[in-house]
Amino acid sequence: MLMYDIIQKKKHGEALSREEIRWFIDGYTKGEIPDYQASALLMAIYFQGMTDEETAELTMAMRDSGDQADLSDLGPYTADKHSTGGVGDKTSLIVAPLAASLGCRIAKMSGRGLGHTGGTVDKLESIPGFRTSLSPEEFRKQVEKVGISIIGQSGNFAPADKKLYALRDVTATIDSIPLIAASIMSKKLAAGSQHIVLDVKTGSGSFMKTQTEARKLAEKMVAIGRHCGRKTAAVISNMDIPLGRAVGNSLEIQEALAVLKNKDTAPDLRQVSLTLASMMVSLCFDISREEALERCEENLRNGAALKTYWEWICAQGGDVTRLQESENLCPARFSFSLKAPCSGFIVHMNTEEVGKASVLLGAGRAKKEDSIDFSAGLWLSKKTGEYVTEGEEIMLLFSSVTDDFRQAEAALINAIQIQPEAPCPAPLIYGIL
Ligand code: URA
Repeated sequence: MLMYDIIQKKKHGEALSREEIRWFIDGYTKGEIPDYQASALLMAIYFQGMTDEETAELTMAMRDSGDQADLSDLGPYTADKHSTGGVGDKTSLIVAPLAASLGCRIAKMSGRGLGHTGGTVDKLESIPGFRTSLSPEEFRKQVEKVGISIIGQSGNFAPADKKLYALRDVTATIDSIPLIAASIMSKKLAAGSQHIVLDVKTGSGSFMKTQTEARKLAEKMVAIGRHCGRKTAAVISNMDIPLGRAVGNSLEIQEALAVLKNKDTAPDLRQVSLTLASMMVSLCFDISREEALERCEENLRNGAALKTYWEWICAQGGDVTRLQESENLCPARFSFSLKAPCSGFIVHMNTEEVGKASVLLGAGRAKKEDSIDFSAGLWLSKKTGEYVTEGEEIMLLFSSVTDDFRQAEAALINAIQIQPEAPCPAPLIYGIL
């Protein structure tokens, strides 16, 4: 087979065969197909799409590209969750320990930041000592002992996705329904959990800008999960506004911790996290969503979720004392207060631009090999729907790699619309599948 022919076929909109998809995934994973040909194929897929059969084949080929965890001895309640990506999206840091505190066994493989969106693995690595790379055996044992383990794709789980994910990040081929569906579901299937909850984001900060696209992606992923024998559900949630007020790795760790401490600082983050955790509990224990929600709320109130969080961070080597004692886990060297150019209500924030500004400050990667500044990011002093007076602070920007905030400032000012009338509040959850 020739890579040239496969690219050519997809460029003309033809469906690839099972053999062609498997040959590509196998060759790319082994390093036999160069990045430039893989990039060309990704771009052809981006423009031409894939049929349901191709997407399912791609998912399974990527799942089979490496190890697959066998979690059968952990009992029937293994559960995993994944978000399609957003800005300030730190729900995994809350959902995982919360659901684990109620008996779910969370065996989760997460991604790094992608494009303008953050990634759980980068966030966790901002905790000093935290290990996101465990062997399949360590991963399994930790779920057994603590009830939760979250790792990156550093083991040999879905290595094809690990390589493709990094390539897509820098070739503008992220926002493609088949590529996202295969990327997420290959990891979820390889990680071995029986129950999968997907958080499909929609709005300006997500890869799916419209609810119609988000629903299509959700349906594809749910169908793949169920076809492979996993109990799978999806929540379609609002990413037209950053979730919570913190954007950036260590800032988000701290905001998530505040929710686990049952502080009332980020009601939107709390609500989306509760929805996802209760879906997980409901799927695992076959109980109604209402009952699952009550159990989740109770475990946030009584500190059980927080206790599980500390056990988990400690088990993966994270410096719990530092997290418990410091107000600011990773202080930035430089900061900048972004002021409102006029008075009025913030009616919209282009959330992708907010994410891109955080990348500019060092919170994400512009190139595959870039390293992350864990202290970088921004704090939203004001959010969509809130009133600002001219000159009042809208956001506080942080970085340790640059003290030049002009580019981020200009992009953010452009991204924020201020008008005299208050906007209608948008729902946080658009649907559940
Ligand atoms: N998250 C993933 O794991 N993969 C994607 O392609 C997008 C979001």
